[in-house]
Amino acid sequence: MENKSCLIDLKNISVSFDGVQILDKLNLSIKDGEFITFLGPSGCGKTTTLRVIAGFLQPDSGDVLFENKNMNGVPPHKRQVNTIFQRYALFPHLTVAENIAFGLKVKKTPKAEIAAKVQEMLTLVNLKGFDDRMVESRSGGPQQRVAIARALAVDPQVLLLDEPLGALDLKLRKDMQVELKKIQQSLGITFIYVTHDQEEALSMSDTIVVMDGGKIQQIGSPTDIYNEPKNAFVADFIGESNIVDGVMHADKIVEFSGHVFDCLDKGFGKDEAVDVVVRPEDVDVVPVEKGMLTGTVTSVTFKGVHYEIIVDIGGFLWMIQSTDIQHVGDKIGLEIEPDAIHIMKKSEYSGTFGDFSSYSEEFDELSDVNAGVSREDEEDE
Ligand code: ATP
Repeated sequence: MENKSCLIDLKNISVSFDGVQILDKLNLSIKDGEFITFLGPSGCGKTTTLRVIAGFLQPDSGDVLFENKNMNGVPPHKRQVNTIFQRYALFPHLTVAENIAFGLKVKKTPKAEIAAKVQEMLTLVNLKGFDDRMVESRSGGPQQRVAIARALAVDPQVLLLDEPLGALDLKLRKDMQVELKKIQQSLGITFIYVTHDQEEALSMSDTIVVMDGGKIQQIGSPTDIYNEPKNAFVADFIGESNIVDGVMHADKIVEFSGHVFDCLDKGFGKDEAVDVVVRPEDVDVVPVEKGMLTGTVTSVTFKGVHYEIIVDIGGFLWMIQSTDIQHVGDKIGLEIEPDAIHIMKKSEYSGTFGDFSSYSEEFDELSDVNAGVSREDEEDE
């Protein structure tokens, strides 16, 4: 992506509603042809950022630039963007083809051109031959495809997608993730995607923007975000993690959980307090006498590929993943290689996550509660 030019710049964007700061001096550059994802928990400001880019919402302060041109005050239909909402907002009384043709008709595109474009879009989204079906009769998956085709038919430079797969069941969602990525790559246009699902973000994106509390916590490639989280929030939100307090004694030497470890990180102050993250898949189980750390197994869950084992180490519960079974009550040793240890600066999030964290599960519970809640105003637009 390094050679691509910058398409959209957000400069110091701030938004507040009823005196509550929702976006706080947000700065972001989006490259042409990039698949970029805003990822974060409910209420962190993802949709608000999308609405600012689309032009549905004017920021209180800051600038939105498209190819260095200031877009402040430019209405949505005059921006080279189109949006797909979670609930698609299709026209139920129109056929599949009429839905796809809608934007082109509004633009007064010649009939033959519309017909050709509709066929091209039907092929792109695998709905060839479904032209005359009523949209109402289509289920979630196909409706999703119609929504994509309709949004792409007008050749937007940028497609904004707000949790577009949120209403689909897991299997369909996975299939559509692959298809969406393929479509984006084949068209080469910029996709700006909003999701709270970390796996979805990791598997589809060129760049992930992790947000919390109206602020960007980290911008990076999926591997950067996973392997080099900037703070405890990112480490907790992306994947499963053990986040513990540590002290950097010197470059590449850190102490945590009562043991001094070699690591790869440097540049911290002598004896600086830090947060240490270790992923569950990076901890090896060894005999007690060989363990850098020792603990007692408190739970074992078979997950198919591995066992998820919770180990009490000095009162802090660690999650580890191993293909070897252990038993509740077993005393085990644990070994952690230097490259499995990642050191982070202390932040406002330090100490807030307690034992091992598995944010996705917490979030699934939360989103079940929130399912079906959606903003109507934009969808009716
Ligand atoms: P979600 O997935 O729940 O939509 P999000 O990260 O997209 O989360 P936003 O929709 O951007 O979050 O909302 C951020 C905060 O701003 C929330 O607390 C929301 O209630 C509030 N908010 C959004 N739009 C408005 C509005 N028009 N008026 C008042 N508050 C709003």
